[in-house]
Amino acid sequence: MTPLGCPGVGAVIAMSERLFHCRCCGACCRWPGIVRLNEEAITAIAAFLQLSQEEFRQQYTRLAPDRKCLILTDREDGACVFLNRDNLCRINPVKPTQCRTFPQHWQVEPEFQNTCQGFYSSVAETPARPSGRRCAD
Ligand code: SF4
Ligand code: SF4
Repeated sequence: MTPLGCPGVGAVIAMSERLFHCRCCGACCRWPGIVRLNEEAITAIAAFLQLSQEEFRQQYTRLAPDRKCLILTDREDGACVFLNRDNLCRINPVKPTQCRTFPQHWQVEPEFQNTCQGFYSSVAETPARPSGRRCAD
């Protein structure tokens, strides 16, 4: 199981007929899928972690099933290797594009909308963001 990635937005946004406001629960980072990396992401994440690009590739990536690019590895429990115990992203400032654009630029499956705690039917239902959390910065 590999994650989709959390959204990287702090505002309430409208998605189809529902509103989205990330609750930093980390479910998307445990959801089955892959996180693809391009050269720009590899350069940025390696620099953020103060690793050489080769060290980063060796420690945190593997070849995608379609062999077209590298993807992030998983933890033993299937979550993204960069999801920490507080459900926050260890590489939040430089996380890959698909993590930063999720879910607002995705075709989110109905099944996931029932799992993600960030979907609401109205602004009135939308709670405040958890204090001190940074996953949606
Ligand atoms: S890189 Fe960060 S946001 Fe993307 S899936 Fe991993 S933990 Fe989640
Ligand atoms: S609220 Fe949704 S987008 Fe935000 S971390 Fe949880 S599952 Fe991911």
